[in-house]
Amino acid sequence: MRKNILSKELILNLSKQIDINECWLRPVHTRPVIWISGRKFFLAKIVAHLWHGLDLEDEDKLGCHKCNNENCFNPEHIYSGTYSSNAIDMVIAGTHGQVKRKFCKLGHLLDGIKIRRNGLKERYCKTCQRIANIKYRGY
Ligand SMILES: [Zn+2]
Ligand SMILES: [Zn+2]
Repeated sequence: MRKNILSKELILNLSKQIDINECWLRPVHTRPVIWISGRKFFLAKIVAHLWHGLDLEDEDKLGCHKCNNENCFNPEHIYSGTYSSNAIDMVIAGTHGQVKRKFCKLGHLLDGIKIRRNGLKERYCKTCQRIANIKYRGY
């Protein structure tokens, strides 16, 4: 068996699908993992290590997603964070560095804006919202 040598090339050569938000997705439906020297890591953590200097031995560190798609491993969508600061990071990501998603999961334009209780603006898809309302109310 060939040993996985940890390198950017190894990550870049993984087969992937790129969605309309430029998220890189593995053909799995769970958070993608990768085995390095017999140890299992979340792919996002490895990407944060290789591209953003995350310390793999620090158990509190994790690869956070600006795109809010935790299955994604696009290095530009991932940053190095900690479990304890993850919640804070997510609030910050909502106002600064967030990758602007233009489309919803079904490919509709995100054409609605709602203001959350914490004052942050959030884009949503009016088409999906309408369909959800119809399902909920029955008309
Ligand atoms: Zn992404
Ligand atoms: Zn939609």
